[in-house]
Amino acid sequence: MLYKPERIYVESQVSALRFCRRILQQYADVEQIVVDSSDAIPELSDTGCSITQGKKILFLKKYQGSGFKLCPGFSEEVLCCNYYVLDLIENCPLECTYCILQAFLNKPLIVFHLNVEEIVEQAVSVIKKAAQRPFRVGTGEHSDSLALDHIFQVNPYLIETFSALPNATLELKTKTDLVDPLVGLEHKGRTVVAWSLNPHEIIRENEFKTTPLEKRLHAATRMISEGYKVAFHFDPLIYYPHWRSGYARTIELMFDYVAPRHIAWISLGTLRYIPILKQIAEERFPNISIFCNEFIPAQDGKMRYLKKIRMELLGTISGLIRKAGPEVPLYLCMEKHTVWEDIMPIHPRDAEALEMYLKCGG
Ligand code: SF4
Repeated sequence: MLYKPERIYVESQVSALRFCRRILQQYADVEQIVVDSSDAIPELSDTGCSITQGKKILFLKKYQGSGFKLCPGFSEEVLCCNYYVLDLIENCPLECTYCILQAFLNKPLIVFHLNVEEIVEQAVSVIKKAAQRPFRVGTGEHSDSLALDHIFQVNPYLIETFSALPNATLELKTKTDLVDPLVGLEHKGRTVVAWSLNPHEIIRENEFKTTPLEKRLHAATRMISEGYKVAFHFDPLIYYPHWRSGYARTIELMFDYVAPRHIAWISLGTLRYIPILKQIAEERFPNISIFCNEFIPAQDGKMRYLKKIRMELLGTISGLIRKAGPEVPLYLCMEKHTVWEDIMPIHPRDAEALEMYLKCGG
């Protein structure tokens, strides 16, 4: 079901902006409260509101600072892919039990940054200045890229902007099938629509309010018929009793729906979390079992599966993908060089080399 907010707070300084006016007109039947700043929002006071309650409220505001930046996952310890993020939305109406946002966001509300043109202009200026290097840019780091676009309607604008940037690729990452707004747009091959995939049983027990696996894949075929390339992210990979058969079935299904030539890239990443997330998630979703395993703290402070388990998961799943689609660029998200060396046929020496391997500017 499409998300609809129960209340909308509007920062006075964005109320005249075009994205704001459109949202307020479209949701004229929803309570709308203009505030001078977030200090005036009771749900953001010390007593606050719960994560679940916060997701029902929309806050339209201006983003201060640079809304175009390197992926927050960047670290010297692991091989990064120089991914950039456009910070347009914070928080998500979907409910994944493992979602880092539950522990990471200091505002429980769903926030739209409505000075869109300003943020996009920052991105365009950086991308044009480095015309010789490829950029991969996503909007799905702090939300789902499609789950809220019936309200925000920012994706057509982004797709049009990126269609004129020959050295950049926009990635819209989702767990939904809300692709109607992407139909009929002039993307010029500069936008990739990506889905996070997991086996049915993991989706059923851990990805609430998302779209079932086969419907995600069906949406991918619709995008292919619109000329888009698609991508898939097996992230987070979950180590559970039937993971071998679960992931084998999922990969088989993915290639049944989508031929390798339509896939821009596939990434793999195992479950990782900051320690406080386990407590928050188990309070919100008392029946989950994904944290019932042996995890160790990594240097970045996140808990990860033991290296032996990570190798088993990544080695098996990358092997299945390579067998069915050897030509598809496949990379590991936030993994150490030693893990790349042990299980991947290629091992880019650094982020720039990985970026070139993904051919995102070509
Ligand atoms: S789709 Fe992504 S951002 Fe949304 S709840 Fe799930 S993990 Fe979090």
